[in-house]
Amino acid sequence: MARQDDTEVRVAVVGPFSGPRAAWGELLTRAAAAHRGAGVGWEFHDDRGDADTAERVARALTADPGPAVRAVIGHFNSLGAAQALPHYRQAGLPVLLPLATDPDLLAAGGGGALRWCPHDLGQCAAIRRAAQDLGVGPLTAVDDGSPYGRRLAERFAGLSPDPVPDPAATGRALVVCGTHHGAADTARRLRADGHDGPLFFTDDCAVPEFTDLLGDAAGDARVVRLRGGPYLQVEAAFAALLRALRSDPAATGDRFLTAVRAVAGPVFDADGDPVDADDDAGWEVVPVDRLAATRAPRPTGTPAPRPTGTPATWYDVVVIGAGVVGAATAAELAAAGLTVAVAGLGPDAGSATHVSGGLIRAYEPQPVVRALAVRSHQLLWGTAAPPRSAGLRRTGSVVLLGPDDVTEAERGIAELAAADIKADLLTPRELTARWPGLTADGVAAAVWEPGGGYADPAGTAALYLARALRHGAVLLPPGPAHTLEPHRGGVRVSTPAGELTARCAVVAAGGGTPALLGDRLPPRPGGPAPRTRRIRYAYFRGPGHLPAVSDLTCGIWGRPQLDGEFAGGQLTGRPVEEWDVPAGHGDVLTDEQVAHIRAGVAHRWPWISQAPYQGGRFGADLYHPDGPFLGLLPGEPPVVVAACWSGAGFKTAPGAAEEAAAAVRCLLQWQGPTS
Ligand SMILES: Cc1cc2nc3c(=O)[nH]c(=O)nc-3n(C[C@H](O)[C@H](O)[C@H](O)COP(=O)(O)OP(=O)(O)OC[C@H]3O[C@@H](n4cnc5c(N)ncnc54)[C@H](O)[C@@H]3O)c2cc1C
Repeated sequence: MARQDDTEVRVAVVGPFSGPRAAWGELLTRAAAAHRGAGVGWEFHDDRGDADTAERVARALTADPGPAVRAVIGHFNSLGAAQALPHYRQAGLPVLLPLATDPDLLAAGGGGALRWCPHDLGQCAAIRRAAQDLGVGPLTAVDDGSPYGRRLAERFAGLSPDPVPDPAATGRALVVCGTHHGAADTARRLRADGHDGPLFFTDDCAVPEFTDLLGDAAGDARVVRLRGGPYLQVEAAFAALLRALRSDPAATGDRFLTAVRAVAGPVFDADGDPVDADDDAGWEVVPVDRLAATRAPRPTGTPAPRPTGTPATWYDVVVIGAGVVGAATAAELAAAGLTVAVAGLGPDAGSATHVSGGLIRAYEPQPVVRALAVRSHQLLWGTAAPPRSAGLRRTGSVVLLGPDDVTEAERGIAELAAADIKADLLTPRELTARWPGLTADGVAAAVWEPGGGYADPAGTAALYLARALRHGAVLLPPGPAHTLEPHRGGVRVSTPAGELTARCAVVAAGGGTPALLGDRLPPRPGGPAPRTRRIRYAYFRGPGHLPAVSDLTCGIWGRPQLDGEFAGGQLTGRPVEEWDVPAGHGDVLTDEQVAHIRAGVAHRWPWISQAPYQGGRFGADLYHPDGPFLGLLPGEPPVVVAACWSGAGFKTAPGAAEEAAAAVRCLLQWQGPTS
C-alpha cells in the first residue's frame, strides 16, 4: 500500500489489509487514523495474514542498507511474524507486536521486538476457567484444519487436565481453534452434523464479522478475546510508539525500543514479552453476540466514567503503594470489577519489594502469618505453573527450630498437611546428612518443605501490576500521596498530579505507611509505634545444592542463587539492630557490614568464612510486635491497611492481597451503591 504522507519519521504498519483476515487489519488502520497528523507517516504494508507474504514484506522493508522506516508495527499473524523477525533483527529495525500471540515468538531470545498482548497459554486457561464458571466441561479442542488452528488445539490439549470425553458425544463442550473464517465453517458443519453442545472459539474469532459468519450456529457460543477487546492492545502500541518518538526523537534500533519500554506503561521482560504474558488475566471470554457491540476503548490513564454529580477523578478504590502487596491488592480489586487507581513513587523509589531476598515457604511460626503464607501457597507459589515472571525456583526450604519452637512447628505441619502442602519434621542428623554444607548446631529439628524456595520479588510485583492494568486499573503519574482526608463520597487523596476521590483507600505503602496514617496506627492503644528496620544481606560464592534456610535459633537466613546476577552464590542475611531508617534501598555494603554478616552466619554455613563476597543489598521494612496490620481501620476516611510485615511480607503477599480486597468489598458493601 502506498505511503500516506512525506513527514520525516516513517513507520511501517504491517497487517492483513486484504483477503479473509482483513477484519483484523482494520484495527491497524483505525489506530493509525486515530493518530493521523502526529508527525509520523504511517506506511501500510499488506501481508494478507500469510506467513510467506509477511516474510516478503520484511525483506522489502529491510532491503536498503539503512531501512527507510524507523520501526514496524504489526504482523498480527504469529507464523508470519516469526518468519519476518530475523530480517528485522538483522537490519536493526525495531518491531512492535500488538497482537501476535504465539508463546514461542520471542522466548527464544534475539530481541528487537516488544509484544503487547499476553500469549496463547493464557487464553487456554481463560477458556477453561470460563467453562468451569458456567458449569460446562470437560472440554475437547478441535481445529479448522489450518496450521494455526492445529497448533492452538495441540497447545490446548497439552495444557488441559480434563479427561478426553467421548468424541462421538454430540453434547460435549468444544473449543474450536482456528482462523475466524475456518472456525465459523467448522462450527456450522458441527451443528449440521447434530452437535448441540456448548461451543467456545479462540481469539482469532474475536472480530465483529465472526457473528455474521457463524449465522444460526452462533446460539450461546462464546469467544475468548484479549481483555477489553483487541483494539486496546493495538491502540496502546501506537500510543507508546508516539510517546517514545517524542521522548527520544533521534532514537533508532535498540535505543528506540529502550525509549518505548520507558514510556509504554506495561512492563516487558528481557525477551520483549509483557511480564504477564503467560497469565490468564489478559483474556476474557464473552458471548459471540457481544463482538458486534465492541466496547469503546478507554485510554490508559483515565478512570471509568462515574455517575453524574461525582468528580472527574473518581474511583472505587485508590491503592497507595505499588510494592508487591499494593500491586497484588490492586489486581484483586480490579479483577473483581472495581475501578482502581494505583499511586506509587515509580520503579526506582525505595521499596522493600525491590531488594527482597524473595524466600518463600508456607511454614511460619506465627499463626497469623502462617495462615497468609499457606493461602499464598495455594494462590501462587504452590500452583502447577506460576507465571514465568514470578521467577519461582523450588530449591526446597528448611526452617531451623530451637527446642522451644518444635511444638508450634508440629501444629504448623498439621495445618500445612490439611492444606495439601507437603512438609516434614527432620532431625538434626537428617538435616546434615542431606545438606553437608549446613551444620545443625543448636538445632532441635527442622521443618522441610520441598515446595518452598525463592522467587523474584520485583518480577512478581510487576506481574501483579500488569494484571491490575489488564483489568482496567489506572497507574497514576509517579509521586507520593500526601494526605488522606474524609470526603462525602469516601476519601480525598492528594497527589502531585492533583486530587482524586475514591470510595476508600488501601494503604500498602510499606515504610511510608505511618506517615500517611499517623496515629490511626497501631491498633493497640498505648502500644509502641511501628518502626522501620534495616535488612541487609550478602552473596558469597556457594557450593550449590542447598535449600532456602530460615534459622529461628539466631534469626539468620539464606538461599542459593541459581541463575542471573550472582548465579552460584549464596544469599545470606543476619539481623541488625538499625531502627527508624529511611525506606530507601541500595546495593553497596561496607567491608564492616560484609564482615558482620560473614561472622554471624559462618557457624551455620562454615564454608562462608572463606567464600568470596560477590555483592549485597539492603532495604527496610516496617516492624511491629502486633503486626501485620491488615484490614479495615476504624474511623474516617475509610481505609484498609496492608502493611507492617516485619521482614517477611513477600511470601505472604498473595494471601494478604486477597484479605485486603475482601476488607474493601465489605466496606463498599456497607457504603452501599453510589448513584
Ligand atoms: C532486604 C530485604 C530482604 C527481604 N527478604 C524477604 C524474604 O526473603 N522473604 C519475604 O517473605 N520477605 C522478605 N522481605 C520483606 C518483604 O520484602 C516486604 O515485607 C514486602 O516486600 C513488603 O511489600 P509492600 O508492598 O508492603 O511494601 P514495599 O515493597 O515497601 O512497597 C511500598 C511502596 O509504597 C511506596 N510508597 C511509600 N509511601 C508512599 C506514598 N506516600 N505514596 C505513594 N507510594 C508510596 C513505596 O515507594 C513502595 O514502592 C525482605 C525485605 C527486605 C528489605
